[in-house]
Amino acid sequence: MEYVSHWINGQDLESSRTLPVTNPATGATIRQVAEGDATTVQAAIEAAKAAFPAWRDTPPAKRAQVMYRFKALLERDAERLVQLISEEHGKTVEDAMGELKRGIENVEYACGVPELLKGEYSHNVGPSIDAFSNFQPLGVVAGITPFNFPAMVPLWMYPMAIACGNAFILKPSEKDPSAAVAVAKLLEEAGLPQGIMSVVQGGRETVEALLDAPDVKAISFVGSTPIAETIYRRGAESGKRVQALGGAKNHAIVLPDADIDNAANTLMGAAFGSAGERCMAISVAVCVGDDTADRLIEAMTPKIAALKIGPGTDKGLDMGALVTAQHRDKVLGYIEKGIQEGADLVADGRDLVVPGHEDGFFVGGCLFDRVTPQMTIYAEEIFGPVLCVVRVSSLDEAIDLTNAHEYGNGTCLFTRDGEAARRFTDAIEVGMVGINVPLPVPVASHSFGGWKRSLFGDLHAYGPDAVRFYTRRKAVSQRWPSSFETAKAEFNFPSGGQ
Ligand code: NAD
Repeated sequence: MEYVSHWINGQDLESSRTLPVTNPATGATIRQVAEGDATTVQAAIEAAKAAFPAWRDTPPAKRAQVMYRFKALLERDAERLVQLISEEHGKTVEDAMGELKRGIENVEYACGVPELLKGEYSHNVGPSIDAFSNFQPLGVVAGITPFNFPAMVPLWMYPMAIACGNAFILKPSEKDPSAAVAVAKLLEEAGLPQGIMSVVQGGRETVEALLDAPDVKAISFVGSTPIAETIYRRGAESGKRVQALGGAKNHAIVLPDADIDNAANTLMGAAFGSAGERCMAISVAVCVGDDTADRLIEAMTPKIAALKIGPGTDKGLDMGALVTAQHRDKVLGYIEKGIQEGADLVADGRDLVVPGHEDGFFVGGCLFDRVTPQMTIYAEEIFGPVLCVVRVSSLDEAIDLTNAHEYGNGTCLFTRDGEAARRFTDAIEVGMVGINVPLPVPVASHSFGGWKRSLFGDLHAYGPDAVRFYTRRKAVSQRWPSSFETAKAEFNFPSGGQ
């Protein structure tokens, strides 16, 4: 059976303990991944520390050249990489290509690092005194990533961290670890010095070793909210800079004036693409007025029945399997709970059978109507192909409902009314907002992050915030007096103009 190693200092490294990796479309164990521990993490840290000083001192323009080559290699190997993603994650190859392309956007943005690292300068702030600020790398930094974007989420992190002059250690999800290593290895081919990028595999033990290591200066985490919160607290307690992105329950609000066909079509992709395993997936459709809800459900029900579902590596499908048997059972448990709590299951995907893939972890599209805020399926993140319709009577009620939810990752308003859209955009307590755009994932030049319990920390992921997250500002005041000036002892606190 194939083995997925750690990748440390340019070497594949094995561990005595392993974890199984399954193909969700068949249910078969296809690989074993190394399970790291504190020793593995220490090896990666030592390699990173040794390589860091020379990389820090490499001019940003030279670091950018590595990123240019990395981008070309990612494009060269895209077909191979999307196969790996689909095989271990279950998503369709077309969807995997989309994720890879969005990941590559971040590499392109990192190519601009000489411009992004430009400091600030003020001439003559005092007698013969000039002031400047510059941005210096932190040292060894780490990223811990979820299963649902095995290529893209790591690419949110390390291209910018490395371009800024840091050394990076990635801990990908143990559920689909192969793509992350395959992508990271391309950096070496792109000319990155060994030790600047390492991948350590495993689960909780590996993560805790990274969190507790004094030499790791910052942690970027993306995953579920309970783990994000723990990571944030533990990392901050040990003096690290931490950004921890968590779960979501993204509401799409549909106003009576919306183009229902357009809303239904785009909601299909936003709710059921990647089998709902996206942190920006729409999982709640808040319909203003019963008529709006009836029209939306009428438009969506036949589309849900017509979803093309099968092994993600086959071309032309809409949806693949869920990532693991355990996750499928969790999603099925939520559907059962929704029925018990009185929601109306108008599209039921539980009995889906994919011929030839009877052991795959498939669940078809599900649509619940008459969901109330008290129900578990409304309150909790399901992370599966389940859309809940909540009926409300006004835009204000929809805004209040969305704002009262513990999560605030993404949201969308469907309308033709500019005034309503503007009011919504101002009042909604959510980090990423779409107007007739149900998956408002910011492009690489705008940072990504939710509000409330969808993000712990101050700075968002990628984009301009990533430059700030992976660097420290240094403010320098320098005086070069002319030869006829002699400095006098000053006992008062220096103030503007001196
Ligand atoms: P997860 O929280 O189970 O795992 C994320 C990472 O944490 C993995 O690398 C995992 O190995 C590690 N981990 C798991 N348990 C741990 C523990 N007890 N201690 C330390 N580390 C631990 O998340 P997942 O199931 O891989 O991913 C799905 C979740 O990620 C969803 O909640 C989704 O909303 C969220 N997500 C959020 C964003 C975002 O940008 N906000 C993006 C993608 C996914």
